[in-house]
This record gives sequence, structure tokens and C-alpha cells, in this order.
Amino acid sequence: MSNKTNKKRTTKKEVATPVTKAKAASSANAIKVEEAIVDKLSRHFGASFDEATKDQVYKATAITVKDILLAKKREFKQANNKSGGKRVYYLCMEFLVGRSLKNNLYNLGLTDVYKKILAKHGYDLEELYEMEPDAGLGNGGLGRLAACFMDSLASLNYPATGFSILYEYGLFRQKIVEGWQIELPDVWLPGGEVWLSPRTDKTFVVKFGGRINETWTDEGLVTEQVDCEEVEAVPYDMMISGADSKGVSVLRVWRSRDIDTFDMNSFSRGDYARATLGNNKAELISKVLYPRDSHYEGKELRLKQQYFLVSASAQNIIADHMKYYPTLDNFADKVAIHINDTHPAMIVPELMRIFMDEHHYSWDDAFAIITKTLAYTNHTVLAEALEKWPEDMMMRLLPRIYQIIHELNERHCKRIFDKFSGDWNKCAHMALISGGLVHMANLSIIGSHSVNGVSELHSEILKKSVFKDFYDDTPEKFTNVTNGIAHRRWLCQSNPRLAALLDKTIGGSYKKNGPELIKLLAFSNDNAILDKLTEIKAANKKDFAELLYHDSGIKLNPDSVFDVQVKRLHEYKRQLLNALQIIALYLDLKDNPNLDIVPQTYLFAAKAAPGYDRAKSIIRLIVDLGEEIAKDPVISKKLQVVFLENYRVTMAEQIMPASDISEQISLAGKEASGTGNMKLMINGAITLGTLDGANVEISEAVGKDNIYIFGMTDKEVEDRWRDGYNPYKYYEENHRLKRAVDYLKQGINGNDFSDIHRYLLVGDHGIADPYMCLADFGDYCRARYEMLNDYKNQREWAKKSLVNIASAGRFAADTAIKKYADEIWGIKPIK
Ligand SMILES: *Cc1c(COP(=O)(O)O)cnc(C)c1O
Repeated sequence: MSNKTNKKRTTKKEVATPVTKAKAASSANAIKVEEAIVDKLSRHFGASFDEATKDQVYKATAITVKDILLAKKREFKQANNKSGGKRVYYLCMEFLVGRSLKNNLYNLGLTDVYKKILAKHGYDLEELYEMEPDAGLGNGGLGRLAACFMDSLASLNYPATGFSILYEYGLFRQKIVEGWQIELPDVWLPGGEVWLSPRTDKTFVVKFGGRINETWTDEGLVTEQVDCEEVEAVPYDMMISGADSKGVSVLRVWRSRDIDTFDMNSFSRGDYARATLGNNKAELISKVLYPRDSHYEGKELRLKQQYFLVSASAQNIIADHMKYYPTLDNFADKVAIHINDTHPAMIVPELMRIFMDEHHYSWDDAFAIITKTLAYTNHTVLAEALEKWPEDMMMRLLPRIYQIIHELNERHCKRIFDKFSGDWNKCAHMALISGGLVHMANLSIIGSHSVNGVSELHSEILKKSVFKDFYDDTPEKFTNVTNGIAHRRWLCQSNPRLAALLDKTIGGSYKKNGPELIKLLAFSNDNAILDKLTEIKAANKKDFAELLYHDSGIKLNPDSVFDVQVKRLHEYKRQLLNALQIIALYLDLKDNPNLDIVPQTYLFAAKAAPGYDRAKSIIRLIVDLGEEIAKDPVISKKLQVVFLENYRVTMAEQIMPASDISEQISLAGKEASGTGNMKLMINGAITLGTLDGANVEISEAVGKDNIYIFGMTDKEVEDRWRDGYNPYKYYEENHRLKRAVDYLKQGINGNDFSDIHRYLLVGDHGIADPYMCLADFGDYCRARYEMLNDYKNQREWAKKSLVNIASAGRFAADTAIKKYADEIWGIKPIK
């Protein structure tokens, strides 16, 4: 399997060299790299190039890259120390990094050097990339955003550390068996570990449970947590190189470990079982990532994970600061800490604890400094995702943290009550603790000097509704930073053909400065360029079809339009709306197989949270629908539906360049931003979407002729609810819709979907059609009809595609990071 004589994939891609300095890779450099790989092979595996397996060559190669990164990081850190500048620490429970080898080589400008050396020894670099497992330490968009931000921070020379957890198992591996999703453990460390550098010199102890002792001493009141469980946090560093820059971001992930709990007494009594009893319990904390996206899990172990991340990181940040400065008085001048979503919200009380209990600050002084360092990004308005923890669980597990939150709450409520002259309603909404629950979003807002949403629309919704009371209280805290993507990864690395065309037409400066993609607009009437775009898309589709055939035996028609919906499976994202539309089309074709339509291939990929039954049955519906259609030899020539197993970063990188239509069809007001929409856009796919999240800004950027918008606005959705939503009305009025919905009851591919039928029309445990698929169905079909009609004119379509690529620069993560740096963190690039 790992033999170099393995069959080579036909989809070998040329990776365009990134940025101008790539030539720095002199031949002297190349010799050093070659020697280094030979050395690593021999030292780690006792093998030469000729003896080594492909996996060993991948690992040896990766280790040499890690060494380069380490040296680069050291230099960058020294420069930062010399400048005495401020650093940002980005706290997030998820970092969906994907693969590292290709990205780091590209960013270091070393792709060609490595490619040549490996080729000399009979290895194809592209094939070595395939040996690396994805680091899937995240669920979806949130974690991928954090990973893209690390890339931009390094590329722009900002000093940054990300903090997260070293999950032994990342997001589960998905298998589809007879239409059902099966979850398998994601074993990534064997191949992913090479990127991690253990820092056993920097461990910290995190305490759980026990009691709080308060005693008066000469030094004042001393607060101690006793009889508690102590867990050791061991850091592992993953380095992420910037592109054509001096910067390297450090992603520090914590692994939990038992502190020497070996019980010598039990051991000498011969009670071996008891002697090792403490073992493994602590290690559970970093065992596995919770697989729910946009939905929190109120489990004790999850709360432990959150505090584990927060406490280890806070101790680390403060220890680093104290190494250079004798005091915490200047903490806010030197440190910015970001709370990415509410999961790390306990950093607020944890910092208060350290300032007061360990550094003897007064409450007010500590609070003033801490709020100046902290900033918070909200990522969702879904009620089920707004974290609330039972008061008693927190009291028991984190007694000191609970005390501090309690005191924060008392002071906060008193202030609000005084300010808004006894408005109990406001107090109840804004309280940190109410109804026996601790409200993590409220805690994050109160503890931060800045609160932002992730698209213009989403940030407005925060001010207008979800956090309205906080906005009335402190309007100056609220701002927007629209999400972005690492465009070098999602365009240059994953779509080398398009990158090469861009280099030829507009030059390479867009790599450093995304918005320069706009120069491509000058070619919007250049037929040669438009045809070239069509050719590139066709070649990418062919590549993807070959890859899919190679990996799973599924055959696609590359001459059909590739209509793509890839993202987590969630009711609000409305994969079901797409499925209904496909059913309607299928039934039309059954009536009239000669119907003149553009051949269509629907590509879905999505993981569902393991306990999310509705999402799983929607996956099943899509799979069964695909198989049912495939049985018809005539219709299947015009319509194909494929559910791709195990969506992850690497698959996203393969599919984005091959997409024609980007489905972004969430119920308006529910998708905070989306970043999949940006990845598809920058690869020339055209959006079919609702006015939700960043779709609104995409629409403004490309203009209405270059996007297909349908459905209700967020305001109309609200009105519709207020007036009483009745899905039955739409069902009765639209004949195609009625047929499609009823078809669910009829059985598809031998399976019954009457649960979904009930869900849409009468409500299966709750209100009917809660995400209003039926209300938007008609307009969705209208927009798609126009779109497919326009697709027939390939030149016109290519022109729309060009406008999308040209306008995507504003969604480069670099742009978002500059805004965070300037307006929120107050950090400067290192010279
Ligand atoms: C970009 C990305 C997402 C986010 O997709 P949305 O369409 O914005 O929800 C999720 N998963 C992976 C693997 C991604 O690369």
C-alpha cells in the first residue's frame, strides 16, 4: 500500500509557485533539504530512500519541513520580543486544519524544491500529500475559520498563538451504509503527529471540584481550592507558516494527563488495580471532540474540556507575560485574547481568579484590565447553540469559577437595575445567571471590550434582537467583521489551473493582496479568457470525476452541470429544500423523459451530529433518491444525485474547483456568515442562495446579474411567523411541490419517508416545517430555472463566473484579520 510503485493518479496537478520569492530556493538550499530528508529517514526509520515506504518518506519529509518552521518561528519570536509589541491569543475549541504539508511548502515557497528532490528519488510529491490524514479538530465552519485566521496572521506578520485541545480523535469519520450514517473514530495521530512538537517544559495544572478555603493571612485573604482533582495540561505546538512572510503562527493544543497518581500504598499492598485507578480519568478530557455543530452538549465532560482549555491557556499567557514584565499592570497593552464563540467564555472568571487570588489585584482593577484584553465573536443566533450551563454543575465542578461568576452577576445586575431604573425584564435578559443556568454569551459580552458578528446581516441581527439589551447598554462594544477564507489555500493551492491563468492575466500580486483580484474584471469581455475559464472548469470537473471514480467507483458525467451543496447537515441549511426540488424535477422527468433540460449532477456532502435523527434521515433521503434515480436508464442520463461520504477539508479542496453552482439556501436570518459560499465563489462557482449571512455581501459584490437570489428576507421570515406560518397553504397552491412532498410517503428506493412528510405538513414533535422549506420552494425553483437557462450560454456563464472570481478578494481572510488587528486587538505586524 505504501509502496512507491503504487499506481499514480491521473489527476496530477501542477502547483503554481506562490509568491515572488520562490526562487530563493537556491540549489544550495536544495542540497540541504535532500540531506535533511535522508537524515530523517535514517534516524527515524533506519531506512534509505530505496528501502523506505511511502509513509516513511512522507513523515521524513514532514519532519524536515517542521524543522524549517521551528527555525523560522524562533527568528520571528525574537523579532517580536525585540519590538516589545502586543501579541494575540486566539482561543477556540476547534481548529479544522486539514493537511499541513502542502500548505506549508507552498507558503514557504519550497514546493518546487521538494518536488524535484523527491522526484529524483522516484517519489511524486502529490502522492506524498495523500499520505497525510486531515487534522479534523473541528466540526465545520467555525473551526475552519480559526485555521484560516492562523494562516493570515502569519502571512501578515502578526504575532499570534492559537489555543485549543489536542483531541486524540477529531471529528468522526463518516461511512454511509445503506443510506445510514455510521460514525467511526477519526484516528489521525499516527500520520498527523509529525506536525506536533511536545513542549513538556511548559505544562500547567488544572483543578476540578473540591472546596474553596479562605483564610486571612498577613498578605490578606488567601483563597485556595482543596481536595480537588488535578489534571496536567501538556502543550503540543503546531506551526503554520505565513506565505512569503517572516511570520509563523503557533497553534498550541493541550493534551490532558494524569499527574502522577500512582498510589504507592496500594501498590505495596498488592492492590494493583487500585494503584493505577487514577489513570486515564484525566486523559478522557482530551480524548474526543464533541461532534455537534451549532448545538451545544450540556455534558459534564464538555464543561471540563472548556475549563481545561481556558485554564491552561490563561496560566500560559500570564506566565509568558511575567517572564518579560514584572507586573500585570500593563497586561492589556501587551496581550489581546480572543474568545471565539462562547466555548472559551470561562477565560473571564479564570483571569479574574489568577489576577485576584495569585496576584492580589482588587476586583475593580482586575476587571478593568481583563475586559480591555478580551474580545468576543458570536457565531450563531440559533437558540439551541447559545450555551447555558446548569448552575449546580458549575458550582460542583468549578467552585472558584462559579463564585466569581456569581459575584460578576451580582455587580452587573445591580448596575443594570440602577441604569435602567428598575427594569426587571432587562435584568433578567442580561443576567449571567438566571433560571438556574449560567449564560455563556452574556458572560462573554460582559467580560469583553468588543463583540462582533461574522457578517453585516448577522451583526445587525445581534444588535437588533439577540443582544439588543446589551447594545442599548454599551453600543460602543458592538461591531462587525465579516468572515473570510485563506485564499491562497482555497484558490492558489486547490485550483492551480485557475491560479496559473490569474498569474498570466493580472499577475501574482493578488496572492498577497486578495482584493487585487478585481483586476480580472478588465477581461470580462475577452472571449479568449472566458473560454479559458470554461476550459479550466471542465478540466477540474473531469479531475474530480476521475478522483471519485478512483476512490469509490462512482461515475459522474463531467458534461453535466455540477450543482454542489457541501456543509454540515442541519435543518436550517435546508438540504431538504434541495432534495424536494430534485424530487419535483425527477417526477417531471418521469412524466416526460424527453424533457429538454440541462443534464444535472447534484453533489451533496455533509456530516450529521450522531444524535441528530432528523439530519440523518435527510441524508438517507438523499442517498435513496440518488439510488432510485440511478435505476432509470433514461432519466439518469439527465439527472444524477450523489452523496459523497466523509466531507472534510481535503474533500472540500477537491470539490470547490469543480463546482458550477453553489447552493447557499439557508432560511434567511439563520446562517451567521458561511465560508463555503466564499470558497466556491473564488473558484468561479455561481451562488444560488437566500439573502442570508455573507450571501448578502457576495450579492453586493457581484451585482444581481451574477448571482441567483431567491426566497424570503430575514424580515419577511419574521413577519411570516408573526402572521402564523401555514406550510399547508404552499403545498395546496403549488402542484409540483405537492407532488414532491407526497412522494415522500410513497416510498423511495424501497424506504418510507412519511416522517419527513409529517414534519413538513403537520409537525413531527413541534411546529410544521420549522425552516420554511415550503414557503421558499416556488421561488427556489424559479431562480434555478433561470440559472440553468443562463448556463446554456457558456460565454455568458463564464462571464458571471469571472465576475465572481474577481469580486471574491474582499473575502480573503487577510482582510478580516487586518480589521481584527486594527480595530479590535490593537496589534501591529512585526517588521
Ligand atoms: C468551509 C468548510 C465548512 C463550512 O461550510 P459552510 O457552507 O460555510 O457551512 C465546513 N466544513 C468544511 C470541511 C469546510 O471546509
